[in-house]
Amino acid sequence: MLDTNLDIAARYIKDGKLVAIPTETVYGLGANALDPLAVAKIFELKERPSFDPLIVHIADLDQLNKLTSGPDERILKLAEKFWPGPLTIVMPKSDIVSDIVTSGLPTVGIRMPDNKVALELIKRSGCPIAAPSANKFGRISPTTAEHVRKQLPDVDYILDGGKTTVGIESTIIKLTDKGFQILRNGIITQEELEQVVPFDGNSEIDKLSAPGMLKSHYSPKKRFLIADNVSSDLDRSKAGLISFTGNLEGSFKKVINVSKANDLREYAVNMFEAMHTFEDDKEIDVIIAEPVEEQGIGKAIMDRLRKAEYNWQQE
Ligand code: AMP
Ligand code: MG
Repeated sequence: MLDTNLDIAARYIKDGKLVAIPTETVYGLGANALDPLAVAKIFELKERPSFDPLIVHIADLDQLNKLTSGPDERILKLAEKFWPGPLTIVMPKSDIVSDIVTSGLPTVGIRMPDNKVALELIKRSGCPIAAPSANKFGRISPTTAEHVRKQLPDVDYILDGGKTTVGIESTIIKLTDKGFQILRNGIITQEELEQVVPFDGNSEIDKLSAPGMLKSHYSPKKRFLIADNVSSDLDRSKAGLISFTGNLEGSFKKVINVSKANDLREYAVNMFEAMHTFEDDKEIDVIIAEPVEEQGIGKAIMDRLRKAEYNWQQE
């Protein structure tokens, strides 16, 4: 059955339509990366601002070579170690990549997803697939096909590959003369990357080359706060807690424990789903999330929580 679905999905991609695809990070809203009109539809359906570039997904290194004008030994070393996997590498683009994909930048962000359905779709479509997360711009990222349906009911086709296994977006890096810079934290950490390429922590990250790093993102429709920032007089009878250690669980209306084993990877896998569940729950008015130490994967988790909280904190 999945095969049949993949054939239909591949045809849709070839025909310039949009297909929601499972990856290991979050569901993506995919289109033929080499078809500017199809890519334009992604921005339209997501209501994504045109300054925010898309990541291009590939299935083999042949595609990588066609998309970049600056193949680099270091890229190949990183690819060998981390691909397929949740690492996006920003590199000089070739002429076949249009400005709509890169928001006019001379660089393109590329990754090879670690998901059989996604890789097979890219192969059968015969083209790289540009895909941001399959949600409305700024809202909670989708980790199931159902989450996609909720936010983007008009998408041409949704390939259901079950719940994603990583749960948060890829780590994004950019190479400089001295090493790599991190543009977005993810499950692949600085420490792991440093084993392959030196970390360039001294050069300033050029804001123009890292667009889309907004203060507000991943945001639930309901009030969302990190537990540290909750005042003691908050009415907990309508509050849902996203719990990690179990230490804060008393007196909340509802609790979702994202990791019984106190494992940060599980927090990442279950975090967006917990936000979706509370967002849809009529008994919950405010969502509280337990913070974690900002180290390793904890950096990526806190990045998502802060951005989800940003607009609500101002209230
Ligand atoms: P997503 O919203 O998960 O699709 O991630 C897209 C993000 O990747 C953008 O918001 C950018 O921050 C980053 N990105 C993609 N392409 C580039 C690029 N060429 N240069 C710098 N950052 C990029
Ligand atoms: Mg996104």
